[in-house]
Amino acid sequence: MIRYNKMRIKMVNSQLRSRGISDERVLKAMGKIPRHIFVDEGLQDQAYADNPLPIGDRQTISQPYIVALMTEALELKGTEKILEIGTGSGYQAAILAELADRVFSIERIASLADRARKILESLNYYNVLTRVGDGTYGWREESPFDAIIVTAGAPEVPRILLEQLAIGGRLVVPAGDRYSQTLMKIIRLSESLEDTEITDLGGCRFVNLIGNHGWKG
Ligand code: SAM
Repeated sequence: MIRYNKMRIKMVNSQLRSRGISDERVLKAMGKIPRHIFVDEGLQDQAYADNPLPIGDRQTISQPYIVALMTEALELKGTEKILEIGTGSGYQAAILAELADRVFSIERIASLADRARKILESLNYYNVLTRVGDGTYGWREESPFDAIIVTAGAPEVPRILLEQLAIGGRLVVPAGDRYSQTLMKIIRLSESLEDTEITDLGGCRFVNLIGNHGWKG
């Protein structure tokens, strides 16, 4: 719809470019993907606003800027195999599907995962594989991943995810307490899990990462 196209272009310019997002591939993907399709009908007019929105089950679709910031930090060129923890609405997975080769996405709430899968299929994103479960274990059979993105707040960086990251791979994860976190970008530099480069991408506030290697309920 033309109205949503206009809102999307405005979002890209006024929320993303103006705040320093410069990866043209990320900006193009966010200018293309119909974010309003990923939220309930009653919220579609708010889909391009500068904030997160509820998607049911007390979960959220993240603010567009945060999606862009995290995606840019993954440094995608198009050939990557990616793991996402927290499928939620499926919006972030669609962005990744545009920018990488294959996306594996895990969601702990089955109803959200089902809904996201249907939306991704309706938009022909066949390079996304979703699964229901505790994403804090990662997806070992498919590892190593060139990039891993965690879209829920962890108490600490889950070591098990670092193990599943390729050498040279990027892990982006919000870590901190239950109410506020630091968005961290971690590059794995060698076989040793201690050999990493860590960048602080700023403060953020995500819903909790709940699972064996996250918050316990
Ligand atoms: N990436 C999502 C999107 O584009 O809509 C937003 C994700 S929302 C902020 C966080 C999601 O992480 C929620 O849907 C929540 O159920 C999920 N989650 C929390 N803990 C999880 C876990 N251990 N494994 C998988 N998903 C988890």
